[in-house]
Amino acid sequence: MNYDRILIRYGELSTKGRNRSKFIEKLANSIRGTLHEFPKVAIKSTRDRTYVILNGEDGRQIVERLKAVFGIQSFSPVIKTSKEIEEMKAAVLQLFTKVYTEGKTFKITTKRADKTYFLETNELNHVFGSHILQNVPNLTVNVKKPDINMQIEIRPEAAYISCETIQGAGGLPAGSSGKAMLMLSGGIDSPVAGYESLKRGLEIEGVHFFSPPFTSERAKQKVIDLAEKLASFSGQFRLHIVPFTEIQQLIHKQVPENYTMTTTRRLMLRITDRIRERQEALAIVTGESLGQVASQTIESMFAINEVTNTPILRPLIMMDKADIVDIAHSIDTHDISIRPFEDCCTIFVPASPKTKPKRDKVIHYESYIDFEPYIQKAVDNIETIEIRPQQNKVDAFDELF
Ligand code: ATP
Ligand code: MG
Repeated sequence: MNYDRILIRYGELSTKGRNRSKFIEKLANSIRGTLHEFPKVAIKSTRDRTYVILNGEDGRQIVERLKAVFGIQSFSPVIKTSKEIEEMKAAVLQLFTKVYTEGKTFKITTKRADKTYFLETNELNHVFGSHILQNVPNLTVNVKKPDINMQIEIRPEAAYISCETIQGAGGLPAGSSGKAMLMLSGGIDSPVAGYESLKRGLEIEGVHFFSPPFTSERAKQKVIDLAEKLASFSGQFRLHIVPFTEIQQLIHKQVPENYTMTTTRRLMLRITDRIRERQEALAIVTGESLGQVASQTIESMFAINEVTNTPILRPLIMMDKADIVDIAHSIDTHDISIRPFEDCCTIFVPASPKTKPKRDKVIHYESYIDFEPYIQKAVDNIETIEIRPQQNKVDAFDELF
């Protein structure tokens, strides 16, 4: 008998009162999206648990995928049995002997979620523990730090048996906090900001400004690869690529050099806001971190933010670069971000951008130019790409599925 399903425990969502059923539904959608390559999988949600029923699909791959799904506190590959003592005992022993090697210690952890069950938790622990001890010679129990923790969960409809609990990604299920647009560059910060947003349950769509021929196809591919990493956390990712060359050239022709960066950012924000409106999102996320570069001083933000009153979410605003880099490593975006292809801002960056731009000055400089038709043209020529997650690597549980 092998693991035939995965039992999923909810995270913060279990405290969410009336929203609970909505959260559970969002989580199921997110799991379905993440597992789209496994068409035989069935997902069954109940108030306390969600089950992924494998139906012959590759459990090892599925475990890897589930590690990235937000809203999951922890999960266990399980065997489902009836609540007949003999059937449970047989399954417990069979699973145990598969993972047991000489010298390992064990304990039994029973969870009696079915409060009407005729045996108490302690009695159940005793029944299963002695059954294993009778059948496996020279075995010792260790309740504090066992090598094998056999878990039996008795629920109203059935019993679930496992010897493994895997840490989930935490956070809230995708889409349970509404939708925002992520300004995604090829840098280190914005993919991390995207990850943090997804973790708090935001649905995000990416917006990337692209300036061919000044920025290469490889720079674009880098952003697509980053989006693919984010897709592994959300199941899918929609990326809008905005042609920005014409606007950047216009800015360079018309705006004094030390204000080009400020105006460029303002235009990016205006365009992103336009796309946000069209996509029915309610916020914009950036990878800005206070003081990191000229465009991220508080004066710059004051001058740039003026173009919209849409909420701008900056998950990294108070974080140190080293901590951002650590997250980039852990979500596997770092090595993509450091590929050496130029981004549209690096190319046009002036020698000495204003670190303390003045709002009234930038408004004055921009007043000589009618950007509107250019903005409209850029928005009309967006390329939108639907991105799916890549294959993940697999490690554990080979023999148990
Ligand atoms: P990142 O590492 O995210 O590129 P950064 O430290 O390089 O950030 P900036 O280049 O000042 O900082 O960019 C600040 C934020 O502006 C980025 O985090 C991103 O959200 C947005 N941004 C910058 N360039 C682009 C671009 N080409 N397309 C979309 N958004 C961008
Ligand atoms: Mg950048």
